[in-house]
Amino acid sequence: LHRFDIVTAGELLAEFVAERPGQRFDVPGRFQGPFPSGAPAIFASQAARMGARVAYAGCVGSDGFGDLILDRLTADGIDTAAVGRDADYPTGTAFVRYRDDGDRDFIFNLAHSAAARLDVDDAGLERLADCRYLHVMGSSLSSPTAIALIDRLATRVRARGGRISFDPNIRAELMADPATRAAVLTRIDDCDVFLPSEADLAWLSHGEPEAETVARLLDERRMSLVVLKRAARGSEAFTSDHAPRRVAAYPVDERDPTGAGDCFGGALMAALAAGESLERALQLASAAGAHAVTRVGPMEGCSDRATLDALIASHGGAR
Ligand code: ATP
Ligand code: MG
Repeated sequence: LHRFDIVTAGELLAEFVAERPGQRFDVPGRFQGPFPSGAPAIFASQAARMGARVAYAGCVGSDGFGDLILDRLTADGIDTAAVGRDADYPTGTAFVRYRDDGDRDFIFNLAHSAAARLDVDDAGLERLADCRYLHVMGSSLSSPTAIALIDRLATRVRARGGRISFDPNIRAELMADPATRAAVLTRIDDCDVFLPSEADLAWLSHGEPEAETVARLLDERRMSLVVLKRAARGSEAFTSDHAPRRVAAYPVDERDPTGAGDCFGGALMAALAAGESLERALQLASAAGAHAVTRVGPMEGCSDRATLDALIASHGGAR
């Protein structure tokens, strides 16, 4: 038996959300926040709320934003022994605005924040490596220190028989860096479960049809499960030994799309780690993604099992 079901590592940040669609960054306006955030943290919160034993490696500053984030992780029951508090650098921040067409723009302050000072000693890494799954987000591969730490952790998880899930979570703002791009490709090569969005897959496929790219990945790489996320159009799961499984989205009133993919992934991996069937895990993941978009704030739409069971039941169970 492993100490943890799921370990995640990466950026912890305080997020501010523009209140009005179409609001700009170059004109004064109102923002809501601070909200605890960071893609791996959203994933971790969702998985922990579903009962998975989750541990986190990250770094926050010695400031109020750091308190906000640590309080939230702790309240969700996440092990934070590997969350450092940097004395010199402030907690990372992100500002998000929604364009009129629904697309998002971010301003990140990560490179010069505590988020880029992520460090865990050998004993800490060894403790974290005792897990069933390590989950990595592409957005976490944004600094040389984070890339190196996640590499070391992945090597140790592999050595102890753990599996790796990877959500490329490609953000153009971060992917301009060649080291980040190279690290994303390394993680795609090395993962067991691959969780791209349509935009992530387009980045990989250079115009080839989606199904062909997925077939090539399953054939040529280590991964054995690919789940393609299509926002309000649901998701599709691919394995090499079964026809693709289409999963419809639950119809909900979308108030803030941020965090849907992270909650989807957190629910999927928590369910798989708990031994649920792939069909059941996909249903829970779809419900978690739908629930996430009904709340403003990146982590505010994370859900527990009872909430998801109720959402699924209210739609007659099927999907
Ligand atoms: P993120 O912005 O968190 O990175 P993503 O692009 O990784 O998101 P999405 O495809 O947007 O992931 O969302 C993941 C899943 O959540 C979808 O596959 C779907 O099941 C569910 N979902 C997302 N948006 C909606 C919506 N508006 N209504 C219902 N379900 C949704
Ligand atoms: Mg995503």
